[in-house]
Amino acid sequence: MPGEESRKLYEEALNLFPGGVNSPIRAAVKPYPFYVSRAEGPYLYTVDGERLIDYVLAYGPMFLGHRHPRVLEAVKEQLERGWAYGTPAELEIKLAKKILKYYHQGGMVRFVNSGTEATMAAIRLARGYTGRKYIVKFNGCYHGAHDAVLVGAGSAAAEYGVPSSLGVPEEVAKLTLIARFNDVESVEKIMKKHGDQVAAIIVEPVAGNAGVIPPKPGFLKGLRELADQYGALLIMDEVITGFRLGLGGAQEYYGVRGDITTLGKIVGGGFPIGVVAGPREIMENFTPSGKVFNAGTFNAHPVTMAAGLATIEVLETGEPYRVAREAASKLAKTVEDLISRYGIKATVNYVENMFQVFFVDGEVASPEDAARSNREMYNELHQELLSRGVFIAPSQMEAIFTSAAHTAEVVEETITALEDAFKRLREQ
Ligand code: PMP
Repeated sequence: MPGEESRKLYEEALNLFPGGVNSPIRAAVKPYPFYVSRAEGPYLYTVDGERLIDYVLAYGPMFLGHRHPRVLEAVKEQLERGWAYGTPAELEIKLAKKILKYYHQGGMVRFVNSGTEATMAAIRLARGYTGRKYIVKFNGCYHGAHDAVLVGAGSAAAEYGVPSSLGVPEEVAKLTLIARFNDVESVEKIMKKHGDQVAAIIVEPVAGNAGVIPPKPGFLKGLRELADQYGALLIMDEVITGFRLGLGGAQEYYGVRGDITTLGKIVGGGFPIGVVAGPREIMENFTPSGKVFNAGTFNAHPVTMAAGLATIEVLETGEPYRVAREAASKLAKTVEDLISRYGIKATVNYVENMFQVFFVDGEVASPEDAARSNREMYNELHQELLSRGVFIAPSQMEAIFTSAAHTAEVVEETITALEDAFKRLREQ
């Protein structure tokens, strides 16, 4: 549990940062966030002298585990040659080729600095390309912290009760039409009314910001067909799923392709990144070849390029996917067994190497279902696990991730903590 050193730092932070933190979800750890001084493999080490098994993984990016030697080596090598040029450098070509190989063969890439920037640029690109104004987004999905997508948003926006943020003018919010995840008909209805003015449908192929909610069979295909029918673009927001569900992400996993892909997190190897990728015909609308403006001092940052490339090279061995999958499937199964052993009303959603438990009666097939779950009970589970050295997402609205560093031994230790934690939950 967070100790005295963390408490002291947090008290200082409360006078320096709104809510004491620089990204809201970090304040969801109670009674106050723990401060980390070092990370290695599956572990975070806190200033209070604790070692925690990490299933948050910086909210997704650290798929190889912390301080992976290959990534460290690549970053060091780049640092020796300087770290920000404001000019093109060769590594961006190498990383772009890798990304295009798995997501848009023959296409193009624009590197930016976060998932937020990626979806912001992708939406502008879709509007510029189609000459249309509306976007369709799903209630409870999260695509970053910019105006167009802070309408019916998930993740920390849902956790803190601001799915539609203060500060987004009504005129702007009105351009975002809200449909229901896993409900093709809800999209069809919108398209029938506004289809000729919809620039893009943006979707998380696995909803990962309302817990973990896989797409029902036919859902993504239905979106593909509606987008085609109405001449809108389909933006696959793979900021979480990209390089996580496999090298080709959710699009390869589910066999449905978007017109534009947004990536982030894993593809930067733990350094700030966002990617917009798509066919040449669409992408060339970005400045300087086209008239959809995008720019960034740090775009294609050399250190990020080095870390991302090294990460993908390790991923290409296939081993990280095997280890992470085995860990997640074993843990998800353990939680399912514990739920049924103790007769707790809960359900587990699991995809490859991400899962989440919802304390609710019945299935969770939509963010609306997720919202009905008993969040207090989830928070208790989080606390019980934290006191046993295991760090899972501090909010029901996030995913539990595994990595290539979650070996059988680490999983065994986690299972012991899970068994104790569920026993305590039952006793309360
Ligand atoms: N899209 C999705 C699907 C995400 O999960 C996130 C972040 N969790 C974002 C976009 C925004 O990315 P970032 O936090 O890097 O701005």
